[in-house]
Amino acid sequence: MSKCIVIGGGFAGLSAAAYLANSGVTVHLMEASPKLGGRAYSFLDKTHNELIDNGQHILMGCYKYSLDFLKLIKTEDKLFYQENLELILVNKGGKKHVLKAPNIFYPLNLLIAILQFKPFTMKDKISLITFMIKLLFISRENIKNFTVDEWLKQNRQTEKINDYLWEILAVGALNNSIKNASASIFYDILKTIFYRGNKSTTLIIPKTDLSNVYCAQAEKFICEKGGSVSTKEKAVEFITKAGKIVALKTNKNLFEDFKFIITAIPHFSLKKIINNGINNVNENMFQYSSILSMHIWLKDNPFKEKFYGLVKSKVHWVFNHNTFITLVISNADRFVKYSSGYLSKLLLEELEDYFQFFNKDLVTGYRIIKEKRATFIPSIYFDKNQSAIISNYKNLILAGDWTNTGLPSTIESAVKSGTKAAEYIISEKK
Ligand SMILES: Cc1cc2nc3c(=O)[nH]c(=O)nc-3n(C[C@H](O)[C@H](O)[C@H](O)COP(=O)(O)OP(=O)(O)OC[C@H]3O[C@@H](n4cnc5c(N)ncnc54)[C@H](O)[C@@H]3O)c2cc1C
Repeated sequence: MSKCIVIGGGFAGLSAAAYLANSGVTVHLMEASPKLGGRAYSFLDKTHNELIDNGQHILMGCYKYSLDFLKLIKTEDKLFYQENLELILVNKGGKKHVLKAPNIFYPLNLLIAILQFKPFTMKDKISLITFMIKLLFISRENIKNFTVDEWLKQNRQTEKINDYLWEILAVGALNNSIKNASASIFYDILKTIFYRGNKSTTLIIPKTDLSNVYCAQAEKFICEKGGSVSTKEKAVEFITKAGKIVALKTNKNLFEDFKFIITAIPHFSLKKIINNGINNVNENMFQYSSILSMHIWLKDNPFKEKFYGLVKSKVHWVFNHNTFITLVISNADRFVKYSSGYLSKLLLEELEDYFQFFNKDLVTGYRIIKEKRATFIPSIYFDKNQSAIISNYKNLILAGDWTNTGLPSTIESAVKSGTKAAEYIISEKK
C-alpha cells in the first residue's frame, strides 16, 4: 500500500510524485479526469486527427523549478530553447519589429536590444533604461499598494513602451491587464527575468503536444521508480482523527495505509473533500481570468516564424505549429461569452488586419477552446491569500499554483509548490 498519496495530476501533483518516487518514497498519484495534465493538457482533435493542447503553454529560462523537473523526467529535448531573447512584434497593417538581444555578453545584449528597437524614440529608450536601472533600487514594500499601470506611470513609462513591452509581458505572465495586476508581483517578475542572467530572458516552447512533452513522461518516470498512477480516480472524502487524515475515500477505493497526503488540486476542489476546513483555504479566495485559444488549420501555411506577438490587438500571440496555427487571447473574459461562430469571424478578420499574407480562404478548419478558470488574478495583496503548504493536519501537505510560492498562476508556481511539498516529506522521512 502507498506510503504517500498525491491527489491531482497537473504540474504540481506530477512534480511532487516524481520527486518523491525519485527519493525512494512509495507514491500513488490519483487524478479525477481520464487524462493527466490538469490545466495544461492535450487531446486528440478527431476532425483533424491531431493532438492539440487546451492552450499554448510557454516557459521561460527563469522557470528554474520547471526546468529541473523536466530534466528529472528526461524530457528536455521535447522543448525548443531560444539562445537569446527574440520577440517578433507585429502592428496592425503588418509592419514587423524585432526585439532581439544580440549574441554578446549579458546585460549589454539587452541594452543593445532596447537601443536598436526601431519603434522606440530616444525618449522611450531613455525612460525604459532609466526604469530598468531604478528597478535595482526600488523597494518592493513601497509599491505593494499599486497596480502595474500606476507604478509604470509613476516611472514615466510611455504609451509606446507599455504597448510594445509591458502590456505584452504582463498579459503573458499574469493573464491580466496592467490596469488590474499587482505592481509587486510584476516587480518580482521583472527582476527574475532581467536580473538573473541571459538565459532568464529567453522563451521555451514545447515542440509537440503537452501530454507528450510531460504527462506521459512523468507517469513513466513515477512508475519506473516504483510508484503508481491512476486516472478516473477522484478523492471524495478525508476521514480525520486527532488532527490527522486517517483515511481517504475515492470513487474507487478506501486508502488507510499512508504516511502523508499531498493535495495538488485547486482550492475550490479541496474544499469539497474536507468538511472541517484547512488553514484559510476557501472556495472564493481567488478570482480567475480566462484564456481563449483558437487552433486554425490552413491549406498552405504562410506563417514563417515560430511565434508572433501582436501589438494592441485582441489576439496576443500567434504560434506556428506548421500543420496548424494557434491564436492566444489572454485575459479573455470579455470574449468567452460569444459563440464559436462569432469569435471565429472576429478573430480571422483580426488576423487579416495584422498579416497581409493571410486571408480567410486559407482556413480549412478551426477549433476554439475557452478555459474560463485558466489562472487566478494576481491583484494587489494576492500573495497574502496564497496558502501555506503545511496544513493544520499533521500529515496533509498542500500544493498547487495557488499555494504560497510568491509566484503568479503559472507552471513555475505549480512545480515549485510540488517540489517544496515533496522536499518537506523527504526531510520528515530522514
Ligand atoms: C489555456 C491556458 C494557458 C496557459 N498558459 C500558460 C503559460 O504559457 N505558461 C505558464 O507558466 N502557465 C500557463 N498557464 C497556467 C498553468 O497551466 C497552470 O498554472 C498550471 O498548469 C497549474 O497546475 P496545478 O497542478 O497547480 O493545477 P491543475 O493543473 O489545475 O491540476 C489540478 C488537477 O487536480 C485534479 N483534481 C481536482 N479535484 C480532484 C479530486 N477530488 N481528486 C483527484 N483529482 C482532482 C484536476 O482534474 C486537475 O488535473 C495556462 C493555463 C491555461 C488554462
